[in-house]
Amino acid sequence: MPKVKTNRVTYPEGWELIEPTLTELQAKMREAENDPNDGKRKCEGLWPIFKIAHQKSRYIFDLYHRRKEISKELYEFCLDQGYADRNIIAKWKKPGYERLCCLRCMQPRDHNFQTTCVCRVPQHLREEKVIECVHCGCRGCASGD
Ligand SMILES: [Zn+2]
Ligand SMILES: [Zn+2]
Repeated sequence: MPKVKTNRVTYPEGWELIEPTLTELQAKMREAENDPNDGKRKCEGLWPIFKIAHQKSRYIFDLYHRRKEISKELYEFCLDQGYADRNIIAKWKKPGYERLCCLRCMQPRDHNFQTTCVCRVPQHLREEKVIECVHCGCRGCASGD
């Protein structure tokens, strides 16, 4: 018999190992969403939310693809339940996108200065030393940085 925590959702085996981390991140996410963002630029207010969403997806990605500590069933479950973003994980599997911060940073039409976001430019090719992308606050996510 699989473990049943509510009437509707059946949690796959291993869930109890990752639940505390995910619950913690969900709570942080709610906090960030409710933050009034007084005095910050509008885009900056979204950065913490991007960051936490990234952390959640990264956590699931690492557990399954790198550390191989969770089953495929549990991995798929997390994606289905929205604990991780299937789209960004698909990108992380591609060469050159292993560290991609968010999907918006690789969409050329969202950027007015270059074809991709400045944070996607490798460190040694950048002119500015300190950068912060306007979408998610990323300070550089090119592979090999
Ligand atoms: Zn980035
Ligand atoms: Zn980004």
